[in-house]
Amino acid sequence: EIDIRNVSLSFGRTEVLKGIDLKIEPGEFFAFLGPSGSGKSTLLRAIAGFGPTPRGQILLGGQDVVGTAPWKRNVGMVFQSYALWPHMTVARNVAFGLDERRVPKAETAKRVSAALEMVGMSQYAERYPSQLSGGQQQRVALARTIVVEPRVLLLDEPLSNLDANLRVQMRQDLLKLQRRLGITTIFVTHDQEEANTICDRIAVMADGVVQQVGRPDEVYDTPANAFVAKFLGTAN
Ligand code: ATP
Ligand code: MG
Repeated sequence: EIDIRNVSLSFGRTEVLKGIDLKIEPGEFFAFLGPSGSGKSTLLRAIAGFGPTPRGQILLGGQDVVGTAPWKRNVGMVFQSYALWPHMTVARNVAFGLDERRVPKAETAKRVSAALEMVGMSQYAERYPSQLSGGQQQRVALARTIVVEPRVLLLDEPLSNLDANLRVQMRQDLLKLQRRLGITTIFVTHDQEEANTICDRIAVMADGVVQQVGRPDEVYDTPANAFVAKFLGTAN
């Protein structure tokens, strides 16, 4: 579904992605793990079509999308800083993408309430973003992304502002939602336990390079190098 081939990207003279090769299967729940600054968000944005055009190829459903406008990619992304429209209610924020696609009003209303239900935000539909906590805003951002039923879902630390309890609950909800919708998903997190409990496979990144890819248990049991072992805390 997502086939990343030799993707490199520089900001000025600094190369932040260095020849990334990665294949993600249809319906897979995949995670990027790695230290701050390792290039996780940059890679996610490159898949979605934001930021500078990378070198290499990014195939979505067999088609190279490098150079294609983001809105033509059918990719939904929840950003690390989940900007909602401040002047629109929660319901309008979630409906925005459907309005843009000229979905009929009645269907929009149905899909918006279903999406808000999925993230547990139904009772906040008429509030404004400034009247919500950070975690609630994150859930609205998630609803806004899934409501358009993208082919690929990219989540950049979507649970980072939630308290520990809600986070555990939300990650289960997210997994259920992902399975139900069957959307190929890439999830960026700093939380290894989170990645291990909900993801089919993980990629450990460092310094713009994928250090290892595999099922969480494989990566833990047989880290490919000293960096991975140290990062995952499996070094003795
Ligand atoms: P974090 O876990 O902190 O979110 P990350 O792995 O997502 O980190 P990126 O945001 O992808 O890291 O950043 C990778 C590198 O690229 C960093 O060194 C960062 O400073 C640099 N970088 C990111 N965006 C820009 C930009 N717009 N201009 C210049 N440098 C940038
Ligand atoms: Mg990031």
